[in-house]
Amino acid sequence: MKLKDIYVTNKNILRNNDRQGAGLISERMRPFMENNSAIRAMFEEGLRMQREYGADQVFDFSLGNPSVPAPEAVKDAIMRLLSTEDPVVLHGYMPNAGFPEVRQRLAENLNRRYGTAFSGEDLIMTVGAACGLNILLKAILDPNDEVIVFTPYFMEYGAYVRNYGGILREVRTEAETFLPDLSELEKKLSERTKAVIINSPNNPTGVIYGEETLKGIARVLSQAEKAFGTEILLISDEPYRELCYDGHTAPFVTPFYHNTAVCYSFSKSLSLPGERIGYLLIPGEVSGAEELRNACVIANRISGFVNAPSLMQKTVAEAVEADLSPAVESYDENRRTLYEALTELGFTCVFPAGAFYLWMKTPVEERQFVEICKRHRVLVVPGSSFKGSGYVRIAYCVSPEKARASLSAWREIAREVFSTLHREKKVVYSTR
Ligand code: PLP
Repeated sequence: MKLKDIYVTNKNILRNNDRQGAGLISERMRPFMENNSAIRAMFEEGLRMQREYGADQVFDFSLGNPSVPAPEAVKDAIMRLLSTEDPVVLHGYMPNAGFPEVRQRLAENLNRRYGTAFSGEDLIMTVGAACGLNILLKAILDPNDEVIVFTPYFMEYGAYVRNYGGILREVRTEAETFLPDLSELEKKLSERTKAVIINSPNNPTGVIYGEETLKGIARVLSQAEKAFGTEILLISDEPYRELCYDGHTAPFVTPFYHNTAVCYSFSKSLSLPGERIGYLLIPGEVSGAEELRNACVIANRISGFVNAPSLMQKTVAEAVEADLSPAVESYDENRRTLYEALTELGFTCVFPAGAFYLWMKTPVEERQFVEICKRHRVLVVPGSSFKGSGYVRIAYCVSPEKARASLSAWREIAREVFSTLHREKKVVYSTR
């Protein structure tokens, strides 16, 4: 036997021995299982509590699941499509990037709203923003490439980056404003940085990145591209693009920086999270745009998504102009109800300009606070689930009746927490 063969045999024996008693789960999968989403866990807990106490006795602010039904335009489109379209085409396979006429219509919608000049070719229909992010990261990441995110952030980013062997680099945001700390961004950028993910309006803080912030990010990234001689992709994750209050709008990001890709989702704007529909936009000015789009379409196929749901593609193309004001008004009402009540009770919250989350400081240790809330049948997500310890996230996309009905429970929580503090004479705030 040659030395090389002995080596291979030994390696196989070693591998077989290692596997004894190890079960079927891969080593790569185990860390994901250990860090399984606290948000999902809380959601499950909510369902259990609803069975035990009754749905009206539980105030579940854990999950970003819209309570406002999808606009009538969605139902009308589905009914019309089912009764008039050729079912073989409607339910059939299609190009992996999606129906060309759907992509064209969505591009035209963007051009009308933002003065851009996209064509349908620039868009790839995806299974929600989650799929858009995954296929994009699959297309660009080599092992140990770095992706920057700003804390606090949507925790799935960590898993998505690690799915493709990437390394997540966290950059803090400014205290109080929760806008990116640009000097910290400058320090964390390196020749290994492949992408920076931003999310505005933001989950979990509700902050909107204004023009100055976007210009600042663009300046820092352009400087880094020059200094390192690399391309850095800015990924704008935008499931909450239209959910803005008090006349605010979220500036459209692509005009600010040449290498920008947008991951959009209809989960929140059209209240369709279970239908899994969104798109990935890669404008022509992105470096190697055509090759990158091609890579993403292939990534879509080989990841097993294949294509976005066909009926939903055609539905959103028809419903993209729908009036979203009933949803925005409903969330706005909750935003005010809860912000006013909670600050009145002595809590400190960021007044959100967009999305449907309140980011609230916990007056006692965060886990203890979450447990106290749970005892009062209020479910919130600990801030550490977003790498923002010392806070909790309150998803106020519940019905206005539910938000109002929760106020007596919040009063009880405040009484318990602040009287405990009074007794112990200590307040534990976050050390961000
Ligand atoms: N990005 C952020 C910031 C989110 O909050 C969510 C969902 O809550 C997603 C992406 C995933 O959205 P989708 O349902 O479109 O996959």
